[in-house]
Amino acid sequence: MQGTVYKSTGSWYQVKAENGKFHECRIKGKFRIQGIKSTNPVAVGDIVKFDLEEDTNTGVIKEIHNRENYIIRKSVNLSKQTHIIAANIDQVFLLITLNNPPTLTTFIDRFLVTAEAYHINAILLFNKVDTYSPEELGEVKYLAEMYREAGYECIGISAKTGKNVEKVKEKMLGKTSMISGHSGTGKSTLVNALEPKLELKTSEISVQHSQGQHTTTFAEMYDLSFDARIIDTPGIKGFGVVDMDREEIGDYFPEFFKLKQHCKFHNCMHIEEPKCAIKEALENDEIAWSRYKSYLQIMAGDEDNYRVDQYQK
Ligand code: GDP
Ligand code: ZN
Repeated sequence: MQGTVYKSTGSWYQVKAENGKFHECRIKGKFRIQGIKSTNPVAVGDIVKFDLEEDTNTGVIKEIHNRENYIIRKSVNLSKQTHIIAANIDQVFLLITLNNPPTLTTFIDRFLVTAEAYHINAILLFNKVDTYSPEELGEVKYLAEMYREAGYECIGISAKTGKNVEKVKEKMLGKTSMISGHSGTGKSTLVNALEPKLELKTSEISVQHSQGQHTTTFAEMYDLSFDARIIDTPGIKGFGVVDMDREEIGDYFPEFFKLKQHCKFHNCMHIEEPKCAIKEALENDEIAWSRYKSYLQIMAGDEDNYRVDQYQK
């Protein structure tokens, strides 16, 4: 039988079969997939083949399909073990607020670079538009236009009043999504507007963390009532980390990537080189300075910095 992993608790996996029935599954033997060594062979979002054990509702996972993408976390201790947080994510929504809390463009850009590196489509949601002054709305418009030009879809929403929440729903149809953003940007409020009965654990966990309690939690996938799935990653804010080479960082800025074929040097890093198409576009205001500044900042980081950690503020 084939199914999708909805929950993983270390040794047991909750798998939803194609007929919609859930089965508790475990694994037998060793899995090595796409050359990744990780502490967990199977992750939420994995598509697996499994056999039901005789006369039970439980199964044994036999095979894992190649992943479209996956996000990882590396442990901070010396072992630097890789943990796969989730796999086969279609898209991530990044919630952005101008204030309460402020979301900086450098943060947005680092987030987007990570999404690109993971091959996950990112959509920017400018939340709390109901609270903004005309000036602030102007700023949201400016930012949205800038990110649209960079290649990202942007929607102004109010999770509280429901403005454009229907648009978000449409984007989610038939897909598996994640919802990210700083604490306080409205993730829970948005989820509640999308699906009033569903309560994700994200916020609750972050409260426990601030009190210094350690809780072991696992990513979990939820079906929404309108043919959409959400992956919740409690305690893991956002995306985890991704390893990148200096040479590839520019490629994760889609508007740079489009132009780089016109740079004089094929291995142009768009910093000191002459006849650089990105710097020319910058001078002509075809590329936003704040995007380029973020690029320089990521490039200037030491190895640990350009292994971008989303939520290191
Ligand atoms: P989370 O930490 O990202 O889950 O953020 P919450 O959903 O808990 O929201 C943080 C605060 O912002 C709460 O007081 C919400 O009521 C408020 N909030 C969230 N979205 C909106 C919005 O669109 N408009 C307004 N006015 N308040 C919002
Ligand atoms: Zn260049």
